[in-house]
Amino acid sequence: TQLLYGRGIVKSYGKTPALRGVTVQVGEGEIVAVTGPSGCGKSTLLLCLAGILRPDAGEIGYRDRRIDGWSEAARARLRRGEFGVLFQFGQLVAEMPAAENIALPLLLAGARRREARTAAIAWLERLGIAHLADSRPGEMSGGEQQRTALARALVTEPRILFADEPTGALDSLAGEQVLDQLVRLAREQRTTVVLVTHDARVAGYADREIMLRDGALDPSGLGLSGLGLSG
Ligand code: ADP
Ligand code: ADP
Repeated sequence: TQLLYGRGIVKSYGKTPALRGVTVQVGEGEIVAVTGPSGCGKSTLLLCLAGILRPDAGEIGYRDRRIDGWSEAARARLRRGEFGVLFQFGQLVAEMPAAENIALPLLLAGARRREARTAAIAWLERLGIAHLADSRPGEMSGGEQQRTALARALVTEPRILFADEPTGALDSLAGEQVLDQLVRLAREQRTTVVLVTHDARVAGYADREIMLRDGALDPSGLGLSGLGLSG
């Protein structure tokens, strides 16, 4: 069943067109990769679908609701409740230990400090980094920081995880570990994933690929895996 869609999405930054009318559908529980060369509009599509950017034209729908016309406050509430986001640089709070970073979304949602801490520790355990609960981001490797950011994105148990080049700043081994965990946790929690990447190996983790070129769906339909770049 369809969980999220964009229909005819158009978005420009000033005079620079980023999306020229993109229609996509994402089913419940699917892991979808949005792929294509740098500058083709992948991040813009993710930001529009996640309700962070408002498109210039077109529709965004989530479940049975059309959300593109909603106010910023209403979209922010929807994001806090049902969406998780993960970017290339985890954007952890530098002053906060890992457990506090992960607990933060729960505290903002009104959880008690102790419950939030317990949940954060449980996530650190699931990710195999419980020993880092009291470490600050600056004391962790890049992979450890991204795992912490992944835990923070999932701690509220979102319906959809939007991930934009989540391993783009990592070496290939650390990147693989983070992706393995992202996919495993998403399957366990039945979280739908929209994963932006320019990397064929990363796209290989997805159930399906949505290919963009110059702000539109790639008419060749070959994608990264189809070009034989994944070997
Ligand atoms: P991708 O994620 O595929 O690299 P983006 O969605 O980031 O593509 O960018 C699509 C186009 O929009 C590019 O031409 C890019 O330079 C432009 N763009 C993206 N963000 C901005 C911005 N904040 N201001 C101006 N132009 C932007
Ligand atoms: P990776 O290559 O997997 O990202 P690193 O070589 O960066 O790993 O880090 C290896 C270990 O060293 C990690 O467990 C991390 O906790 C520790 N570490 C990395 N950078 C720092 C730092 N600036 N201060 C303290 N510990 C660090």
